[in-house]
Amino acid sequence: MAKTSSLRIGRWHNWSGSVRGAPREIALPASIDELAQRVAEYGRAGRHVRVVGAGHSFTPLVQTDDVLMSLDKMQGITAADETRGTVTVLGGTRLYRLGPDLLARGVAQENLGDIDQQSIAGAISTSTHGTGVGFGSIATQVAEITLVTASGDVVECSAERNPDIFQAARVSAGTLGVIAAVTLRVVPAKRLHMQTRRERLSHCLEHLEEYKRNNTHFEFFWFPYTDSGQAKFANETDAPVTKGSAWATFNKIVLENGALWALSETCRFFPRTAPAICKISVGGITATDEVNDSYRLYATPRAVRFQEMEYSVPAESFPTVLDEIRTRIAKERYRVNFPVECRFVRGDDIWLSTAYGRDSAYIAVHMYRGMPYKGYFQGIEEIFTRYGGRPHWGKIHTRDAAYLSAHYPHWNDFQRVRASLDPQGVFLNDYLRRLFGAEAPA
Ligand SMILES: Cc1cc2nc3c(=O)[nH]c(=O)nc-3n(C[C@H](O)[C@H](O)[C@H](O)COP(=O)(O)OP(=O)(O)OC[C@H]3O[C@@H](n4cnc5c(N)ncnc54)[C@H](O)[C@@H]3O)c2cc1C
Repeated sequence: MAKTSSLRIGRWHNWSGSVRGAPREIALPASIDELAQRVAEYGRAGRHVRVVGAGHSFTPLVQTDDVLMSLDKMQGITAADETRGTVTVLGGTRLYRLGPDLLARGVAQENLGDIDQQSIAGAISTSTHGTGVGFGSIATQVAEITLVTASGDVVECSAERNPDIFQAARVSAGTLGVIAAVTLRVVPAKRLHMQTRRERLSHCLEHLEEYKRNNTHFEFFWFPYTDSGQAKFANETDAPVTKGSAWATFNKIVLENGALWALSETCRFFPRTAPAICKISVGGITATDEVNDSYRLYATPRAVRFQEMEYSVPAESFPTVLDEIRTRIAKERYRVNFPVECRFVRGDDIWLSTAYGRDSAYIAVHMYRGMPYKGYFQGIEEIFTRYGGRPHWGKIHTRDAAYLSAHYPHWNDFQRVRASLDPQGVFLNDYLRRLFGAEAPA
């Protein structure tokens, strides 16, 4: 299972090890009242606060040498409204805990990403997404937010109440305050039928629109230096949970991760073997067929650590962008053995959502931890940026405020709301100041 980041005074690191910090204080409030009181005190004392979820972001979003706040003690469902089809959860609630709790009430989140280790607040704050052209990112499931601002005020926001704060807060990278609770729109509990198989890239691209349209969830992993990859299809079903699921889980956790680790270590020691390792990996893709509760099937165990960059591009640009990526990898001979992940998400209206105003394709590149990744990521990022790409807020990129402001039509609206809620920059660190073009404190 993917482990969380470590949370200790004087030593903190994120999941991938790309960010390390030495917080002076760890704050673990256990209630909204305590949270509000502590934030007000920090604000008055001119302290700086970063809130961490599960530490699964690759970028220095939560890096701090002052206060690192965690809502690990604020987890679970606090209210449910069957008529509206909503459930209210505390901001620190981990998704792996939420799935079974929702199922016990006969409901589910309509879609999720490919792991369930994140906190709900952390997931929405970076525009975390899954795949499926009928679904937006997880933040689009949010109906209301309870936000504790720098002054310690508890602000409720929704499409009707404080709508500007709501538009800004759903994806805000922890810069508006602390998300204490979130009300989510949920759907009746569902089972998914997931099928995976090896497929030629040319075949996949030829049938892309049909695959996206005819499956509620479709994604594709293409292996560099090969003409193939793994295609994954998932659709709702009434069929019973497949027998042998325990074996499938063992297979995913132990065998798949073990094989990936062994191949990745080989690549780390002998980088020239990358193309051969990609070919071996493709050869090892077997067809799978599984039915299970939706929240169990979305999540994949990720025991092998890596660094990742992911951009959203307009859905219609996807084939061209992927083609350029293939050409660039073939030309530059990057030493990489991880596949390129391709997902598809519906556009939305959230100001800083990476899918704002456009149906989007998400393309992610990964590098095994311990192998040099900067040259590879920069080479691919250059392609993304020529197609209006927007970087995932939680994954590695080199963009700054000048670039981002040109790619988010509501950038200035977001800045206005951020400055009004946190004029002293209590919730900013150096990295966020660069991203948001905010001035450093005097
Ligand atoms: C193995 C792996 C798989 C992943 N798979 C996917 C995927 O399928 N799809 C995808 O889109 N992304 C994916 N990600 C990225 C991940 O979903 C995001 O980085 C997400 O933000 C991590 O959630 P977290 O709880 O760890 O938040 P953190 O990384 O701890 O924090 C993320 C941001 O949220 C803010 N935050 C956290 N809690 C609060 C709060 N209570 N109030 C205000 N702000 C808060 C933080 O300050 C920070 O800015 C993956 C990452 C890893 C390591």
